[in-house]
Amino acid sequence: MTQSKVELKKIQNFVGGQWIEPKSEVTESVYNPATGEIIADVPISSSEDVDYAVQAAHEAFQEWKELAVPKRARILFKYQQLLVEHSDELAELITIENGKNLQEAKGEVQRGIENVEFATGAPNLMMGDQLSSIASGLESGVYRYPIGVVGGITPFNFPMMVPCWMFPMAIATGNTFVLKPSERTPLLANRLAELLMEAGLPKGVFNIVHGSHEVVNSLLDHQQVSAISFVGSQPVAEHVYKRGTDNLKRVQALAGAKNHSIVLNDANIDNASTQILNAAFGSAGERCMAASVVAVEESVADEFIDQLVQKANEIKIGNGLDEGVFLGPVIREQHKERTLDYIETGEKEGAKLVRDGREDVNAQEQGYFVGPTIFDSVTTDMKIWEDEIFAPVLSIIRIKNLEEAIDVTNKSPFANGSCLFTRDGGSVRQFRETIDAGMLGVNIGVPAPMAFFPFSGWKNSFYGDLHANGKDGVEFYTRKKVITTRWV
Ligand code: NAD
Repeated sequence: MTQSKVELKKIQNFVGGQWIEPKSEVTESVYNPATGEIIADVPISSSEDVDYAVQAAHEAFQEWKELAVPKRARILFKYQQLLVEHSDELAELITIENGKNLQEAKGEVQRGIENVEFATGAPNLMMGDQLSSIASGLESGVYRYPIGVVGGITPFNFPMMVPCWMFPMAIATGNTFVLKPSERTPLLANRLAELLMEAGLPKGVFNIVHGSHEVVNSLLDHQQVSAISFVGSQPVAEHVYKRGTDNLKRVQALAGAKNHSIVLNDANIDNASTQILNAAFGSAGERCMAASVVAVEESVADEFIDQLVQKANEIKIGNGLDEGVFLGPVIREQHKERTLDYIETGEKEGAKLVRDGREDVNAQEQGYFVGPTIFDSVTTDMKIWEDEIFAPVLSIIRIKNLEEAIDVTNKSPFANGSCLFTRDGGSVRQFRETIDAGMLGVNIGVPAPMAFFPFSGWKNSFYGDLHANGKDGVEFYTRKKVITTRWV
């Protein structure tokens, strides 16, 4: 088996342009989930460490906000070049600490770079509007300004892309930033910081405080933090939104998901089964846009399931660094145990297990592997339908028609993404108009919007107003002044 190439190292915080030892001496082990080996120790910082970083960010803000917007953008142009130059190395690091295969990791790096590219448009994106005549001799105009110190809290599943949803636009618009990466995938964030310094970012504009709950809560409570961008699981997103807004901060909290795909009887079944296979088992099902449930019309259900199982049987499972591997491990041993519990629960609930990922050879190995698992005849009273499992476990529900599929989908408390497989325009319109979800796909499996579109779900998949990315991102990280003038 491929050995990870990262030497065991002690990770440090990054504050005011310096690598520093946190005040807290508590650390946690970081594992390579494909091998189970410890690859680093991450500090579990304290509120004192957060305060130190926020002070540094607050000081840096005073000058950074004054720097002309095109000059800020120019640093991001340089950063974009560095990220492109280092993309192979970044992808490998993602595979080592997260487990997704190298191809997927390269895709993630590319998505991160696209966010930096979008943020280089800050001079355009920050422009205001004017009206030369609001009354006789009177005119008005809007100007945009940064909001101050922004805190970013990110999950383990996209260690590069999700931070890049936040800090490039936040700093391009003149804010300073304190990132709290996932303690399970902290390595990539530090590399992002090193490259930011190489790009010429002034000290203190971007800072990292590693840790867990205490760091998050300190950011939420800190008086000098103006806004919080959060991405993670539903209970934590709800907590972050409530505590952050209670402290009168601007908060966007992107949460968990249980994404439903719908396959109608006029769909191209070969395309549907390939797309759903990728969406359900790619990144080991650890995507907020993963397909978790498929509502398939009864008349094509057998054909669809046969194809899906056949394709799942061909998947190569293993270390994502190895050639041809599609399915890597889940993130931790505990997450594997939780997944196996859900598979048992599904059987007890009476769902029909048509492919059992526990039997795949790698599922017995040292890394945290679970093979592709498929349940047929799932119903909406089952836990495996309701809960976000966040692993390679797919539930299939047999439905009579599109109306029933939409009813099933809309019963879920989550509403992140949803996909429809059909060739019928009327069905697409009905789906678009009536489905509860923020991100829709037609004949594709993972409808993740690109950097220039807003990214987020509805219902329990999102707390806040302004989504991540696109013009919503610009809006979130800026505040406006309207000036009304009479020239006398
Ligand atoms: P998580 O909620 O466990 O952790 C996210 C962040 O919150 C981490 O930085 C973690 O340290 C912190 N955290 C965890 N528990 C906390 C607590 N009790 N109090 C304060 N902070 C806490 O999420 P995860 O397991 O790292 O990531 C997977 C989850 O993220 C899934 O639910 C997935 O759907 C979701 N996600 C959503 C999106 C989206 O766009 N909606 C994107 C990616 C991931």
